[in-house]
Amino acid sequence: MPTILITGANRGMGLEFARQYAAQGWRVLGTVRDPMAGRALSEAGGEVYVCDVADPAQVARLKGSLAGIALDVLLLNAGIYGEKQEFGAVDAAAFMKVIAVDALAPLKLAEAFADQMAGRKLIAAVSSKMGAMSDNPSGGSYAYRAAKAALNMVIKNMAADLAPRGILTAALSPGWVRTDMGGPNATLDAATAVAGMRKVMAELRAEDSGALIHYDGTRLAW
Ligand code: NDP
Repeated sequence: MPTILITGANRGMGLEFARQYAAQGWRVLGTVRDPMAGRALSEAGGEVYVCDVADPAQVARLKGSLAGIALDVLLLNAGIYGEKQEFGAVDAAAFMKVIAVDALAPLKLAEAFADQMAGRKLIAAVSSKMGAMSDNPSGGSYAYRAAKAALNMVIKNMAADLAPRGILTAALSPGWVRTDMGGPNATLDAATAVAGMRKVMAELRAEDSGALIHYDGTRLAW
């Protein structure tokens, strides 16, 4: 049975990933921040682990809890949008928080679990077109855009560093999805976006490692 570790699996796309992978017969290990928030994940068939991905002590504890478990896929999904990030009103602490959660934490989790990757050996992060230099007609969202751009580089960098170990990486762009973050007016439901990203991950080839790929399979420019 293939095994996947999903961060931020208590709601939104992370929970939908857990549902879909569990329904396909995968062993699903999911993280939640709040120990009381694991019920939906548990009902979806996932095993619940508590981890704030921006807290190194909690990442180390998670590593200990999962010691010896071979991971086919590490799915770095947890993320925040942030606040006070329009030009002229950028709050430094809020900016750094988004960088910590959306860019640095995925790297630290990959560092923590790279030695447990086996089988499929894929490390994927849920990124965003908002982190692509090629797709920014509107400006704004300084922290989120900068963090996802940094995440894209982390994924690209790891593709090179982890290739000798046979580990592939990918940055996934889900589209605009109806979750707490995406809001009610978003164009896609989570089930559609997640099904698309699962297909992208299943079909990813070695020559695609490190790429930014939309949920519909389109490879996006940085
Ligand atoms: P939600 O806001 O619905 O869910 C975010 C998830 O991340 C929650 O489980 C949340 O946990 C978790 N999380 C946030 N901060 C931390 C942390 N420090 N440690 C651990 N978990 C954390 O968002 P989505 O499902 O929409 O987003 C999932 C991913 O998709 C994110 O990376 C987001 O940037 C990306 N994305 C979303 C888009 C959209 O349109 N929705 C578009 C492009 C990208 P908790 O419940 O404890 O807060």
